[in-house]
Amino acid sequence: MDALIVVFLCILGACVGSFLNVLVLRFGFRERPSPRSRCASCTTTLSPRDLIPVVSYIMLRARCRTCGSRLSAQYPIVELLTAGIFLLTYAVLRPETPFDYLSFVAYLGFWSALVALIAYDVRHTLIPLPFVYALWVFAVVHTAVSALELQSTGPLVDAAFGMVCVGGFFAALSILTRGRGMGIGDAYVGGAMGLMLGSASGIVAAILAVWIGAVWGLVLIVVAHSLRVFHRTYGLRRVTLKTEIPFAPFLALGAVIAFATGLMPLDLAFWVYPF
Ligand SMILES: [Zn+2]
Repeated sequence: MDALIVVFLCILGACVGSFLNVLVLRFGFRERPSPRSRCASCTTTLSPRDLIPVVSYIMLRARCRTCGSRLSAQYPIVELLTAGIFLLTYAVLRPETPFDYLSFVAYLGFWSALVALIAYDVRHTLIPLPFVYALWVFAVVHTAVSALELQSTGPLVDAAFGMVCVGGFFAALSILTRGRGMGIGDAYVGGAMGLMLGSASGIVAAILAVWIGAVWGLVLIVVAHSLRVFHRTYGLRRVTLKTEIPFAPFLALGAVIAFATGLMPLDLAFWVYPF
């Protein structure tokens, strides 16, 4: 990959990530979006040198210059994640034609919306609908570009099938568990993923998300159990662990793996039943 493109995508991704941070922090709050960013603790207006993505966070050693209160690790994590996924998307798609570039931009938009959605879900275990709408818009644009490029309705049919399969699967899970295992928001995100990735990769993404989520859930149960035993043994006060796990990060992880590897549903079947 051209070094210049790598540098450009890193800077672009970090800046987009910085913007996503502001969206995630301000969405759903009454606070009027002020034109300049402020410290959340002492409300000092931040100077431009404190607003450089990732770099400022490291230079300031994660503390506000004025009041010394801790800055959230969400800032650099979201910025690095966005930059990383921009690079990955370029490496996978290798755009050349104008259609390729349109498709590439649609993917960058889709991943950006997904990063914002995960950050919000991790913070509040809630999925804000405007973030979901953004996912759908980018998925529709991507599907339309593919159909125009190939001069065929094939991509439309495949995307619609992916949307119904993945969205329907998570909607069914949500209804069967009465929203306890999974929120209906996850079904909307799953549907957008099926539309964006197409049926094959969409299904792979969904299966991977469920597997990764299940393993993570098991790890949490084991940890909670060991903690409880530990506390009982040493007569400590009982601890309660938050059991509600946001699922959107697993969906996104499944989508990124499916996109990057191009695995097919049958490949996964082969892992489970290798004969
Ligand atoms: Zn401060």
